[in-house]
Amino acid sequence: MKPDRLRKIRNMGFVAHIDAGKTTVTERVLFYTGRIHKMGEVHDGQATMDYLPQEQERGITITSAVTTCKWNDHEIHIIDTPGHVDFTIEVERSLRVLDGAVMILCGVGGVQAQTETVWHQARKYEVPTLAFINKLDRPGADYRSVLSQIEKRLEIKPVPVQLPYYDGDSFRGVIDLLRMKQLVWKDDDQGSEVIETDISEDILSEASAARDHMMETLAELDDSLMESYLSGDTISVRTIKDVMRKATIENRILPVLYGAALRNKGIQPLVDAIIDYLPSPNDIRPPLGHDKKTGEIITIPSDPQSPLVAYAFKVYMEEGRRLVYLRLYSGEIYTGDELFNTTRETSEKVARLFMMHAHHKERIEKAVAGDIIAVAGLKDAVTGDTLTIGNETLVLEPIEVLKPVISIAIEPKSGGGEAYQRLMTTSSKLMDEDPTIKVSEDPDTGQVILAGMGELHLEIAVDRLKNAFGIDINVGNPQVLYCSSITGQADGESMFSKKLGDTLHSGHVTLHVSPARRGTGNTFDIIPDMNDQLKSSILLGLEEGCLADPVNGYNIVDVAVQVKKVIITDETTGQGMKIASQMALQEAVKNAGILVLEPVMDIEVMVPEEYVGDVVGDLSSRRANIEGVVIKGKYHCIKAYVPLSRTVGYSTQLRSMSRGRGSYNMKFFRYDNL
Ligand code: GDP
Ligand code: MG
Repeated sequence: MKPDRLRKIRNMGFVAHIDAGKTTVTERVLFYTGRIHKMGEVHDGQATMDYLPQEQERGITITSAVTTCKWNDHEIHIIDTPGHVDFTIEVERSLRVLDGAVMILCGVGGVQAQTETVWHQARKYEVPTLAFINKLDRPGADYRSVLSQIEKRLEIKPVPVQLPYYDGDSFRGVIDLLRMKQLVWKDDDQGSEVIETDISEDILSEASAARDHMMETLAELDDSLMESYLSGDTISVRTIKDVMRKATIENRILPVLYGAALRNKGIQPLVDAIIDYLPSPNDIRPPLGHDKKTGEIITIPSDPQSPLVAYAFKVYMEEGRRLVYLRLYSGEIYTGDELFNTTRETSEKVARLFMMHAHHKERIEKAVAGDIIAVAGLKDAVTGDTLTIGNETLVLEPIEVLKPVISIAIEPKSGGGEAYQRLMTTSSKLMDEDPTIKVSEDPDTGQVILAGMGELHLEIAVDRLKNAFGIDINVGNPQVLYCSSITGQADGESMFSKKLGDTLHSGHVTLHVSPARRGTGNTFDIIPDMNDQLKSSILLGLEEGCLADPVNGYNIVDVAVQVKKVIITDETTGQGMKIASQMALQEAVKNAGILVLEPVMDIEVMVPEEYVGDVVGDLSSRRANIEGVVIKGKYHCIKAYVPLSRTVGYSTQLRSMSRGRGSYNMKFFRYDNL
């Protein structure tokens, strides 16, 4: 492949608050680019990208499907991301492999709770983003208010490249401020035809002012544009686009476009903007990895000629077959290739390669750097693994996986040990697909325990076990999962010595534990000048020691461990050191005093003003910390932190408190004690 093709690829995704219109926009993009021949609607359960039966029933998008379409000689790989917070891992893993994103906002709702969440995720991975303000056909849509919310709450400069065009009250189309043209779409039409004319008299002066505003913002970012602008030279559309593109890729601005996807208006210019302003794999900051042996940081070139480096970002079981989604950063892959999984240190064979189009796959023989593909035949690879050819120590940074916060017990409805065994194996396949699901066995009751990120998350997991894997199961009540931390500092010492088989294993470790800031996890500080093998034995012992606290058996979190002293004798072995570390840690934690932590949720409740008092009172009775109340138009938004265990039945309670006018959004915040 010529590097030229790389320049013409856009790996992008749509992100948004739930219901802003991601699926509807995606469906239009696929239709206008000729990828599909009929538009499906979300409310009919017909959208192409919503392909799990559970998604079609609920009208929401859960798994991120990948699809490829072509536009103006460019290839756009779209990764659909779910909107529900219980599936943040899906959003994280897609943002990790995306080069650019379009953030869809509702013209009425504006910046909503999850708009902020996904925006911060996009910032974390430095993904250049465009904004599409959708639903401008709806009564109450107010693009100016949405712009000011973006500026205030997302802390980035929105740069509208269009102006919405209304005929009376009805939204007709947009003014393109670069070319100063009016683009309208017919009503009650599939919107394939974009009618381009000169700008109507009634909006001309407003359009000129909007263009000036855009030009001034851009001129401030680029000296040579500033010069031409001040001296009154004509500035070409090409030049404006170049400056806009550069500033977008550098994450300095957020270009803004408008439309009404359901009315088939505004989509084609959005696809143009994806190509004009979002980066190709050539334009992104090269991803970083590190050498497992030396720790050296390695920059991975976006180059098809370099050795293969690929990242597994999703596993999906399809009719019993395992499909692994890969993002290729460097090199090429052919059918039949032998890959090395550097994370797991195993060899894996590529049986088949596919380009994905929602649930429909297209067989291909070869894929190159920049591509996002699915591979059949990989047995070991799970989300976060690095696959290479000719480099057995290079790993890309893994995706950070959140700890489950809630669990349910499940058991087969009928059948004996065999059914139980089948449930156990299929549940672990589910864990394979979704790293935020944990499957274990309760040692006391023998039940299978499914743990995840929220009630809906578990409900869908159970549905999937029932439908896709054909297992009939009984489900217990959800249980909140607890963690432990420590209240103070303390030391622990362990001298271990025991004969195992013929060898005497000894270890002697003294360590100190102190509380770390909430939500930071555990840190291990091990004496540096020690041999690597002993060091990794100690680390293993400490990690295992954190799995269960000595009093309740909960996971230990937010503890800083400092190994102060190790005594090495002739009998010292790795095994001995590991056990000594584990025991010293347990002793130190016990000495320091154990503090039970529970999952705390970040909740935002939107209600009309008259219900604020009742909602705040009710939240307080649920042990919530109220952070504040923000006024958003006619609604008041109450922000608070509340223990997950106290949110049971909240939606019913809120409905009755607010006469059905309240809504809320909740996501995991951290383990804490409120
Ligand atoms: P997602 O959750 O972000 O994928 O949002 P959907 O695409 O499922 O859309 C949510 C709802 O909003 C659906 O009922 C859509 O039909 C509707 N919708 C999407 N775009 C528009 C629009 O431009 N105007 C109006 N009035 N409704 C829209
Ligand atoms: Mg959707």
